[in-house]
Amino acid sequence: MGTHKENGQDDQFIEELWKRSGGENPLGEFDSFQAAYDAAVERGETGHHQRASAIVTCIDEGITPLIVQQQLNLPEEPDILRTAGSGILHGDITHILRPPQVQGMLAHDWCGAAGVYARENNLTGNADDHGAQRIEQIAQATEVDYYGRILPTARPREFHDARAVYYDGTRKGFEASRISTLPKGFGVSRGFFGSQIGESDAALATFIAASGNMRSPHFTPQSPFYLVAISDDRPGSVPMEKLRDELSNIRKSAESMGFPTQIVTLDVSVTRGGTSTPSPIRRNPRAS
Ligand SMILES: [Zn+2]
Repeated sequence: MGTHKENGQDDQFIEELWKRSGGENPLGEFDSFQAAYDAAVERGETGHHQRASAIVTCIDEGITPLIVQQQLNLPEEPDILRTAGSGILHGDITHILRPPQVQGMLAHDWCGAAGVYARENNLTGNADDHGAQRIEQIAQATEVDYYGRILPTARPREFHDARAVYYDGTRKGFEASRISTLPKGFGVSRGFFGSQIGESDAALATFIAASGNMRSPHFTPQSPFYLVAISDDRPGSVPMEKLRDELSNIRKSAESMGFPTQIVTLDVSVTRGGTSTPSPIRRNPRAS
């Protein structure tokens, strides 16, 4: 989101962004998100959280674990949990954000959720400042670290170039941006934050895409915005069918805005790994 200066220049830049993100075919050589993921797993990539604790950050596709590592000068990539504006839109969430699973909270600039937060609370001035202050308050109340603000530099300042929202229903946490074959997308840690926050965040991500720069003429029924339900076979993860139900509500409201979306499923069970027996779950889960 942002202000557009000269339309001609912006149009050209948006065209370039769309092409860079795969144009009509963001999956490249693969015919489904599952096939793209399975190929990356075969090559040794993993999106599963590796650590006992994670940093809470935003759903913004401009933020990745690598970008958090670089901008905070951490020795290695952290695991991240994602909710819009790190949770500023969801009232009191301190009961969810407990150490040790959450080690800290992070704010960022150019934040769409901070804009919503400022509007909802009639706050004037810089929305990112208000968002960051609120995040710091939540961190203090929760007694976890506050890591300050980063820039979501995996995208350009004025533009969103997400092709999907990754609706992570795993309990332990899964980060789609770690999988090199998957298109860039927003991330929502539905498994960790629960259905109410998850649905609200996925709806906001879809709204940002629908009202953003790539809306027209790029997203079409042939190249829709993807709502990706992610689950695995671990205890506590949300069943795929439940995730699909939740996403279908978002799909309905997107359709009513004339914004084409498609729900797909991505099974990230560890039993799908290259060295173990493939699971009998259907291999081509592309669905309407
Ligand atoms: Zn944000």
